[in-house]
Amino acid sequence: MSMQMLIGGELVESANGGRMEAIDPATEQVIGSVPAGTAQDMEKAVAAAESAQPAWAALSIDARAAYMHKVADGMDARAAEILEIEVKDTGNTIAKMEADVQKAAERIRNYAALGFEVKGITVPSTPGNLHVTVCEPYGVVGRIIPFNHPIAFAGRALAGPLITGNTVVIKPPEQSSLSAGILGEICKECLPAGVVNIVTGEGAAVGDALVRHPRVKRIAFTGSAETGMIIQRAAAEVAVKHVTLELGGKNPMIVFPDADLDKAIPAAVAGMNFAWQGQSCGSTSRLFVHDSLYDRVLEGVAERVRALRIGMPLDYDSQVGPMNNKEQLEKAVKYIALGVEEGARLVVGGKRPEGDMFAKGYWIEPAVFADVTMDMRIAKEEIFGPVMSVIRWSGVDEVIEMANATDYGLTAAIWTRDIDTAITTARRVQSGYVWINGTSRHYRGMPFGGMKNSGTGREESIDELLSYTETKAIHVLTA
Ligand code: NAD
Repeated sequence: MSMQMLIGGELVESANGGRMEAIDPATEQVIGSVPAGTAQDMEKAVAAAESAQPAWAALSIDARAAYMHKVADGMDARAAEILEIEVKDTGNTIAKMEADVQKAAERIRNYAALGFEVKGITVPSTPGNLHVTVCEPYGVVGRIIPFNHPIAFAGRALAGPLITGNTVVIKPPEQSSLSAGILGEICKECLPAGVVNIVTGEGAAVGDALVRHPRVKRIAFTGSAETGMIIQRAAAEVAVKHVTLELGGKNPMIVFPDADLDKAIPAAVAGMNFAWQGQSCGSTSRLFVHDSLYDRVLEGVAERVRALRIGMPLDYDSQVGPMNNKEQLEKAVKYIALGVEEGARLVVGGKRPEGDMFAKGYWIEPAVFADVTMDMRIAKEEIFGPVMSVIRWSGVDEVIEMANATDYGLTAAIWTRDIDTAITTARRVQSGYVWINGTSRHYRGMPFGGMKNSGTGREESIDELLSYTETKAIHVLTA
């Protein structure tokens, strides 16, 4: 499977002809390749996006939405193919990935429908005159995405910028770029040339070239906090830019003594997103359980994690696949060893699964650690893998202090039947997205994003659409 990049309406190779291999993480076999883009390719992509933008912005919202619907329909038409490639390329299990593929098209339609909501205001600043604001597109938006949900993120990456009158350059994750190749083919068929450009390659090469491009003022990045900080710095060296960052998490789930354990225990396991080996920014990887319930919850969680079926990602019965890539596997292995070394008790998993099926590939059994304390690195650092830390607490102030004792602040889950406890705790946790008696699910229209080092800016909502525009104030003065 040999994919190409989309630049200026053409499917192209990289300027130097270089290619990157796509590895199936379940088998370590090479399953395809994509161009290894260069800074020169990025320059061409930005130039193409720039020249396409005025005509794109001049279209009516309905016309832009109609084009976006064509892309969504094109994705639906190739959904089975996208799904298979995505599962093979990421290792995420197929039963759950169906939703990712559907979501990519759905998000495009959803954002297309919101075009008329991106609007300004009128302000009664002076009597007799008219003071209004309008939302102007930035021009070219640069979007950089991570490996855990490539097609879902790529669909989202184009939707917001396009409906608001921008053109876009997307930089897919180098570990899992194949589905972006299909998206490129669809966009070539459905959109005017240059409106969407997709440049594959290494982050430090094409990603950096996009961030540093002087005429790309708006950068939206999803990835690690480390790269997010590099991007903020790089952008600031070139120009004043609007950079939003959707970064990592080390998210708490707090179980209060009155929690409904029949629901909280499965939710704690679901919150770990084991279908993609915990490689999710929102995974509730720190489970804080009140002392009075600790053993019961630990036992229930351990039993469920032990029962998860690890298997080939394309098998609908598999609940856990391999990790996305070798580095991620090594990171998980390192943190599991560290947890043991730091004195945490490994209750479940943490080793390579047995059997011929797992001889090759980036496999690791989901791990549950008990007796974790907040001085341990596994309790504070993002592992981005299938490692869950179960932490005991007895005082409310104590648990909130522990929940907030990381540099991250993405999601939090609070389990209680008491409304006062729920609201007070939700207000006290330093997280951008809080579930009360829930985990995992993202709700349409609700802003998603992080506090502290989990990011800046909000997506998945009208906030995101507005963020692709700049406000212009216009004063109409009576003569
Ligand atoms: P990463 O930061 O290594 O890479 C993300 C993207 O940035 C890739 O496309 C990569 O090529 C590119 N990149 C790398 N260096 C770059 C540079 N110097 N300049 C420009 N681009 C560069 O992240 P990852 O390992 O792909 O993904 C995992 C991380 O993403 C985790 O921390 C996870 O929590 C986070 N994440 C956050 C969200 C969210 O919505 N908050 C969602 C998914 C993943």
